[in-house]
Amino acid sequence: MRGMRKTRLLGLVACIAVVGIIAATVAGCASAPSKAAAQYKAGTYTAKAKGIHGDVAVTVKFSDSAILEIKVGENEETAGIGEVALKKLPEEIVKGQTLDIDVVSGATVSSKALLDAVADCVKQAGGNVEALKSKKAAAMVAGSAIEKTADVVVIGGGGAGLSAAVSAAQAGAKVILIEKSEALGGNTIRAGGAYNAVDPKRQNAVKMTKPLMDNLKTYLDYKSSDFGEYGPTLDVLQQQIKDYLASGSDTLFDSIELHMIQTYLGGKRVDLKGNEIHGKIDLVRTLCTNSPKSIEWLESLGLSFSDNISTVLGALWPRTHGTNYPVGTGFIKILSANAEKLGVEIMLETKAEDLILDKGRVVGVKAKKTDGTSVTLMASKGVIMATGGFGANPEMRAKYNTYWPSLPLTMPTTNTPNATGDGIVMGEKAGADLFGMGFIQLMPSSHPVTGSLGGGVWGSAEDQVFVNEQGKRFVNEYAERDVLASAALKQTHALFYIICDKNTCGISPDGKNGWGDNIEDLVKTKSIYRADTLEGLEAQLGMPKGALVAQIATYNSYIDQGKDPDFGKANFGRKIEVGPFYATPRSPSVHHTMGGLAIDKEAHVLDKSGKVISGFYAAGETAGGVNAGNRLGGNAIPSAIVYGRIAGANAAAGK
Ligand code: ADP
Repeated sequence: MRGMRKTRLLGLVACIAVVGIIAATVAGCASAPSKAAAQYKAGTYTAKAKGIHGDVAVTVKFSDSAILEIKVGENEETAGIGEVALKKLPEEIVKGQTLDIDVVSGATVSSKALLDAVADCVKQAGGNVEALKSKKAAAMVAGSAIEKTADVVVIGGGGAGLSAAVSAAQAGAKVILIEKSEALGGNTIRAGGAYNAVDPKRQNAVKMTKPLMDNLKTYLDYKSSDFGEYGPTLDVLQQQIKDYLASGSDTLFDSIELHMIQTYLGGKRVDLKGNEIHGKIDLVRTLCTNSPKSIEWLESLGLSFSDNISTVLGALWPRTHGTNYPVGTGFIKILSANAEKLGVEIMLETKAEDLILDKGRVVGVKAKKTDGTSVTLMASKGVIMATGGFGANPEMRAKYNTYWPSLPLTMPTTNTPNATGDGIVMGEKAGADLFGMGFIQLMPSSHPVTGSLGGGVWGSAEDQVFVNEQGKRFVNEYAERDVLASAALKQTHALFYIICDKNTCGISPDGKNGWGDNIEDLVKTKSIYRADTLEGLEAQLGMPKGALVAQIATYNSYIDQGKDPDFGKANFGRKIEVGPFYATPRSPSVHHTMGGLAIDKEAHVLDKSGKVISGFYAAGETAGGVNAGNRLGGNAIPSAIVYGRIAGANAAAGK
């Protein structure tokens, strides 16, 4: 997670929306109240209600018969989807003169806060809140069918889709992007924002720790004859390590080959049926080689990256970057601004339903707008599928899972509700092969109730310490996510606590975590626990007396030794020693679906015989083959950006 990042340039989402109508318009609406009955005490009223990151304030203007205008004040709701909810809902309330408005998917808390605050104003104005809540808005009416053509059509407006759209437009293509939800962003905007890349310029500031050095030397023990197609890559890596050791350098070692081998080993898994899987080497090489180049590309588009390098949970090596924006918001903000600048036509609330084929070539897409309007988009050069994964589709998870002995339908997820696997289903219908569908990543450290990533405090993987309800460590916190999730699921109540202190929690100077959650609020709601001493913390958590104190003392002594004899933690950060101390309860939830449409390194979608399906490209979580059995933390966003760029450029060139 990038919960540790300190810089928050976009901490305040200045979402000041004003939505208004003139009374005459209301009087003319089918749903407008009768002019005769004075429903409200005309005037302007203000109220606020609790959003996801503090209060959402509204100012509502009433005539005696209508809600005329809703102004939303400054707030800190999540940039992107929360912002969209606070713009869209006031429009719908004023238009329909109703409070029976659907919340925006993925922004439930912000939506409810807005509705509650407006309801409060209605009450102050003497209106009947209950009547407005049960008053149906006029049913949506489908418009006349929309038909358009473009060179390239992109389906999905997350990191991969936006990268594809920008790169195709940069190459001169006319691009239409459709997105089924009310806002761009997908999982990318709500992810931690971690981005792995080999980057000597920034990594030069990082020193090798003793455990990292020991860890690096273990790569010399492998035999390239055991590494199949990765054998030559291992050979190169081993020579690099030997040269590095001979140099006596104490600056962090890294190379494209190490990133490749870690992605390979981290993803090489055997499922419950005994099938082995690993990342396709061409795809892994393309990811690792192009991920640093894509930082430069994003920088050229205006995205600024922090110089801090750390290890996001499950990344295995300190090569994780973050942007100077909260969590994943910077990627979407900058990419969407560039898409707009380059003339990409973006159609929101437009859900792709089927691909259009002509003699085996994908030539377009059939879609539907939320109001039922049918949309047909023809693409002369290519269609790019970038609809993300199926983490929010429990039935599809259950259908494909072959890795976890049990994956209850009720298991929560970190994902947007829109991650329902649509592109995989559409692609398969068009003849695409699927790769690695049985492998689903659980995020070990999710909120135990909501399953979301936010609501906690912790630093990078180096700094994290996991203890169970008995106050005991149970795993190498620097391991892969499937290893961590599996160990967490074996603890009582599948629950554990991340322990950190004043220095290692990554709390910003204004008292927030990387998601913008207010620390004081989190303490109040028992989303996290805080105490001046470890004794105080263990008492709050109901752990056996002395257990946490002893465990942390032992952990700190391992940092002095540079070795963890209990669980072999493969890299250490700082000791846990400066109060206040914090504990964040966590439990695994569904995070990333590794399987998807089979692609080659040019982002072409492949059919079951391995042949390219003409006119069809895929990128990001909807594509399979890179991450195989387990994705390294921090590899998802670069994968979306790298393959999005490739798909966009190739589709634009008709390649
Ligand atoms: P990636 O990281 O691969 O880009 P994301 O989850 O960030 O994945 O983005 C995928 C986007 O695709 C989401 O915004 C999601 O709402 C959108 N999407 C999913 N299914 C459809 C569909 N059928 N039509 C249009 N957009 C879709």
